[in-house]
Amino acid sequence: MKALVFHGPGQHAWEDRPEPRIEAPTDVLIAVQAATVCGTDLHIHHGVHPEMPLGTIMGHEAVGTITEIGSEVTQFKVGDRVAVLPITNCGTCAACRRGASAHCSTSGPNGWLLGHSHDGVQAEFARIPFADHSLHFIPDGVPDEIAILTVDAMAAAYEIGVKNGAVSAGDAVVIIGDGPIGLSAIPLALLEGATRVVMVGVLQFRLDAALALGATDVVDASQEGWVERVRAVLPEHGADVVIEAVGSKDTLEAAFDLVAVFGRVANIGVHSEPVSLPIEQMWIKNFVFTSGMMSCTSTPKLLELVASGAIDVSPIITHKIPLERAAEAYAMAESADENQATKIVLVR
Ligand SMILES: [Zn+2]
Ligand SMILES: [Zn+2]
Repeated sequence: MKALVFHGPGQHAWEDRPEPRIEAPTDVLIAVQAATVCGTDLHIHHGVHPEMPLGTIMGHEAVGTITEIGSEVTQFKVGDRVAVLPITNCGTCAACRRGASAHCSTSGPNGWLLGHSHDGVQAEFARIPFADHSLHFIPDGVPDEIAILTVDAMAAAYEIGVKNGAVSAGDAVVIIGDGPIGLSAIPLALLEGATRVVMVGVLQFRLDAALALGATDVVDASQEGWVERVRAVLPEHGADVVIEAVGSKDTLEAAFDLVAVFGRVANIGVHSEPVSLPIEQMWIKNFVFTSGMMSCTSTPKLLELVASGAIDVSPIITHKIPLERAAEAYAMAESADENQATKIVLVR
């Protein structure tokens, strides 16, 4: 089969690899129908994850069709169409039993096997460990490119942004970050009853997508003075919830500034340097700060939401290209502005 293989920072190639085989009785094999390039894949590409073994197949977001099952798999059968969780859930360790598979002790410190310590899904076929706990059926009528959003971008937006931020009816919500996660948070916040959703981004085509997704206001943060422009469109009391989906010091500090008294700042962004927590502001403003990594427990609900038509996240998908052009997808994602790229889906 063909797969996108990691050969070190900045080096990967679509090349021949042996087809995966069942290695444990809890495995399944899938024919990959769609995969995506995620920000985390770009981090790997830039050498942010030196622990990644050379020769590993890239990718952790996929939907596929099951081609073979291990002898202990009970929930799935050959031919099932499934969404693959990027967090591998062993289902039996203490963390997984508590619904915190991001801390699965069997699948490594963060449940991240696929396209990391194990071969991933940017390939024609893939082996999925602990399949009974790490796959979900895709309802009929949900296209592959929409289903794939529910395993990572939407799960992060919902679990770590909207739910941690406790968005509720009548809230004014600011979402900082116009990537797939930030954009996914827009319809999910509206569904919880937010009446004002302000998207802060830097790419005009993504701000247009934000409006299509239901944002009430968009603010271009590539221009000076954006924090004041956000404040100008908020109610007098400020933002009830600020969702940070960038992972930078400046944007998180802006979130602390914009949040209302008794508000919540929900950080989704992956930060590469420490940011001081303004405990004196938190005390005087009574605001709550949350952060963390999703465990993908919301994926079945998110699949129902897209299947029912309750939300439409299609503006997030900008490109569908053949799987064999996976390497090109990285280049397109790197030059997102030039290529007008938000989420690039690789299809079989
Ligand atoms: Zn991802
Ligand atoms: Zn576990």
